Amino acid sequence: MTESAAGYTSSRQLGAEDYGMRFQDCQRGTLTLTDGAWGTEFQKLGAAQGACTDEWNLSRADLVRQVAESYVAAGSRVLLTNTFRSNPISLALYGLQDRAGAMNRAGVKLSRQAAGNAALVFGSIGPSGKMLVTKEVTPEQLKEAFSCQAQSLVAEQPDAILVETMTDLVEARIAAEAALGTGLPVIVSFVFDSGKNRDRTIMGVSPEQAATSLTSDGVHAIGANCGRGIRDFIPICRRLAAATSLPIWIKPNAGLPEMVGGVAHYKTTPEEFAASAQELSEAGASFLGGCCGTSPEFIRALAKHPVFQFKSEARQAPGGS
Ligand SMILES: [Zn+2]
Repeated sequence: MTESAAGYTSSRQLGAEDYGMRFQDCQRGTLTLTDGAWGTEFQKLGAAQGACTDEWNLSRADLVRQVAESYVAAGSRVLLTNTFRSNPISLALYGLQDRAGAMNRAGVKLSRQAAGNAALVFGSIGPSGKMLVTKEVTPEQLKEAFSCQAQSLVAEQPDAILVETMTDLVEARIAAEAALGTGLPVIVSFVFDSGKNRDRTIMGVSPEQAATSLTSDGVHAIGANCGRGIRDFIPICRRLAAATSLPIWIKPNAGLPEMVGGVAHYKTTPEEFAASAQELSEAGASFLGGCCGTSPEFIRALAKHPVFQFKSEARQAPGGS
């Protein structure tokens, strides 16, 4: 275990054959390429609309590993885990709440196998799907569910935990506290797609409120994901970066989906998406990848962008490939 200057511990020692990258190296002024959407890829592999694909960590490990490997091959240096819904509250919708621990542990193992020494693995925690404001769920129930998920993720030693797609500040802070309890670095990311300027979460949280609250809670990076098209993320990224000195995590959707026959279609092309990389880097992004509708082709397009080529070359350890 090594103690960093930032005060969190890293349980994973990277060897000389690695890229020499740790979460601690992903600071402001650097840019690290993450992965794209998993759900979109699972649909291409036959997942039904609304299916619980986190369960594939147990029943279709081959397909989960295939998606993970496709992102590493495309150039992702951070790989998430297929555990977005693997908290007992969300899994209860499918009667799978008792499998939460197994799904989280398998999710980290599968991403780690695919990542090898080429990418870091961040454990994904999504929202509960229940609303605190309408008392559908209590803070205590959320705390228990997110603690269960965070503790089962950490059992397989991911490099960090990502609390993502959050809209409610109270829920995000409860999830962040549970994640911080593992001792791992924690990133918290919100969906800012609402309000007249499309700069608030659906629950009314602004980038400044999110950044200020979570920074004071002691998390290690703050971000925005999902939402609308990538152009909307540039001002949001700038505002997050102005409100905190922490690294900024950015994962936009491939534009707004158009529903055709009940299936979401995204219009942004990989090249259009990658064209915003420079502006996001200048706006303060430290991590960049894609959310819904993005694919390994989007990550490949980003990887070719000069902003990444320069940064990844600079970061490779001697002997790295
Ligand atoms: Zn999304």
